[in-house]
Amino acid sequence: MVVNCHCGSRASFLGEVPFCPAHFQLWLKETVETELGKFIGKKETLAIAVSGGKDSTALLDIVNDWVKNKDLKIFAICIDEGIKNYRDESLKFLRRFCSKKNIELKVVSFEKEIGSTLDKILESRTDLGVETKACTICGTFRRYLINAKVRELDATKVLFAHNRDDELQTLFMNLFTGNVSQISTKGEIGGITDHSAFVVRFKPLIDVPEKALATYALMKYPNLPDSECPYLEESARVGVRHFLNRLESDKPNSKKKIMKTYREKLLPPLKESAHLLNRTLNECEICKEPSSRLVCKVCELKKDLKLI
Ligand code: SF4
Ligand SMILES: [Zn+2]
Ligand SMILES: [Zn+2]
Repeated sequence: MVVNCHCGSRASFLGEVPFCPAHFQLWLKETVETELGKFIGKKETLAIAVSGGKDSTALLDIVNDWVKNKDLKIFAICIDEGIKNYRDESLKFLRRFCSKKNIELKVVSFEKEIGSTLDKILESRTDLGVETKACTICGTFRRYLINAKVRELDATKVLFAHNRDDELQTLFMNLFTGNVSQISTKGEIGGITDHSAFVVRFKPLIDVPEKALATYALMKYPNLPDSECPYLEESARVGVRHFLNRLESDKPNSKKKIMKTYREKLLPPLKESAHLLNRTLNECEICKEPSSRLVCKVCELKKDLKLI
């Protein structure tokens, strides 16, 4: 059966609403711009966390167009974890993309800031008796580096390209491990929002399906490298992703409905109760960054991995 876009042309994107290529691109841009308009104020400096992948390239491109003629500054920030044959490729693409679009790009490397590449850290993990998963190590250092760097560069918000599928996977992973306090730090505005040491984290793609971003990237960025991180298969995320995709194919629109319940009914009371707990943060006794513990997670991990 031929499905048409509302303009009468043949639809090539058969998502929640069928669109022709031109209206599909317009719809995605407008969806993201609506989120941006809700949370970005005047005279802000926005850092866009990018990886050279489809989602963050689309976000960077859309934000870059949106800030034109507005009193806003942007720059892109990419963490080079040191993953051979993967990050090298995406960084090459990113450097070309940013230079073409005239966007300032900051690259922060694990090797320089943490003292080793992720590849080397993971190689030495077994000898050191560390069982922490690759993505936990990577994510802990990456979050820390992004926050420290964008704070140093006076960004008022850091934008992440987490899409609907990413956010739901994180939600389910936290549900499976009972990590409710982590859930309260998620949502479109996340992280610790009431402490000056933490730059507010904003996810404008939170309700955009991964499939839509993949289609958008295919249409707009044909040279995008499509390699996958070699450590991804270690992550519990892969299983949760399959589970949610199966659920969606059995019961179409499940992801959309879960996201609606999550944003409207689950997150607000969780955020409110986390706020009432009035959590106190001390200084980590090693790095002096704020932490709820004597030694922060980053320093603890560095100690375990003999990086300090
Ligand atoms: S898949 Fe895991 S190890 Fe690879 S870049 Fe992502 S968080 Fe890091
Ligand atoms: Zn159309
Ligand atoms: Zn520390």
